[in-house]
Amino acid sequence: MSAPLLDTLRRPLRDLRISVTDRCNFRCTYCMPRAVFGPDYAFLDRKELLTFEEIARVTRTFRALGVEKVRLTGGEPTLRRELDKLMALLAPIPGLDLTLTTNGSTLEGLAAGFATAGLKRVTVSLDSLDDAVFAKLNDVAFPVARVLAGIDAAAAAGLRPVKVNCVVKRSVNLAGVLDLARHFRGSGHILRFIEFMDVGTTNGWRMDEVVPSRELSATIGAAWPIEPVEANYPGEVAERWRYRDGAGEIGFISSVTQAFCRGCNRARLSADGRLFTCLFGVHGTDLRGPIRDGASDSELAATIASAWQTRTDRYSELRSAETVGLPKVEMSFIGG
Ligand code: SAM
Ligand code: SF4
Ligand code: SF4
Repeated sequence: MSAPLLDTLRRPLRDLRISVTDRCNFRCTYCMPRAVFGPDYAFLDRKELLTFEEIARVTRTFRALGVEKVRLTGGEPTLRRELDKLMALLAPIPGLDLTLTTNGSTLEGLAAGFATAGLKRVTVSLDSLDDAVFAKLNDVAFPVARVLAGIDAAAAAGLRPVKVNCVVKRSVNLAGVLDLARHFRGSGHILRFIEFMDVGTTNGWRMDEVVPSRELSATIGAAWPIEPVEANYPGEVAERWRYRDGAGEIGFISSVTQAFCRGCNRARLSADGRLFTCLFGVHGTDLRGPIRDGASDSELAATIASAWQTRTDRYSELRSAETVGLPKVEMSFIGG
């Protein structure tokens, strides 16, 4: 492989998150609040979405430019019909690690097929073990038990270790974090707490709802002593810890209190084929237009390379009272 593609801050392009749909069956208050994403919300039309063949072509181009890891996301990616067919197109691309982030709602029935199609691992979002608290966050009264069944099905299908993402909002689910930790200790799954972020412009973000990872790790460490573990690879966003008694790993993603832009090697492809170089981006680089207008592989690669090489993003390091209200793309659009 040729020299890595570097941006203006010398960060290589390594990771690609592909949003396969902007739709979701949940209305998590921190992501797609019902008041905004209601019955009149204009989601993308089917013809606006990249087709599976188009996604596979773009992914091969990203792979040639150095991307090693692809995560399918959304919206809720498993709502895209026959997602296993896309996995079967992407999994054979040499040197590519294929993963999925899902709310787990459909995983019980789909996990085995995903594993057969070549998916390697899965991350499932689950914010509480208490149905009433979980309902306050997902806002569709989705039962915890079905997400847990999805996690079990994923593990049984070999999509291990399952990572479980929990976004913590101080006034809503902080009180349940020890229950979550207790539940997943010793299970082989890796629970990760994510600081509530000011993504998009509609989720009513407030700093006093953010629970700093330091506070959470102190709470959990007081119940079961933990110690830090070395990062798996440069640019890993989760800070890894393990229980001293051997009950496994736990992670913290501190995007607000300990920004990790310096190591950010992640590009994002929206469901309509725009390339974003930051979760907090405003303008994407259109790839669907050139693809449908017959661009060659080298033209497509040049467009992606140029977007990456001119990248200056470091929103989380610059976050301040002034940046919170700036226009940004919604997370459900470009994927978490
Ligand atoms: N629907 C899938 C899911 O929920 O896992 C995939 C897309 S979702 C946008 C990806 C991840 O972003 C989820 O783990 C979700 O909890 C996280 N997320 C969404 N909004 C967030 C916010 N405001 N702050 C922190 N994490 C957020
Ligand atoms: Fe849907 Fe995931 Fe956003 Fe929740 S976090 S609304 S499940 S896309
Ligand atoms: Fe990467 Fe942007 Fe997040 Fe910084 S704010 S870590 S540049 S996505």
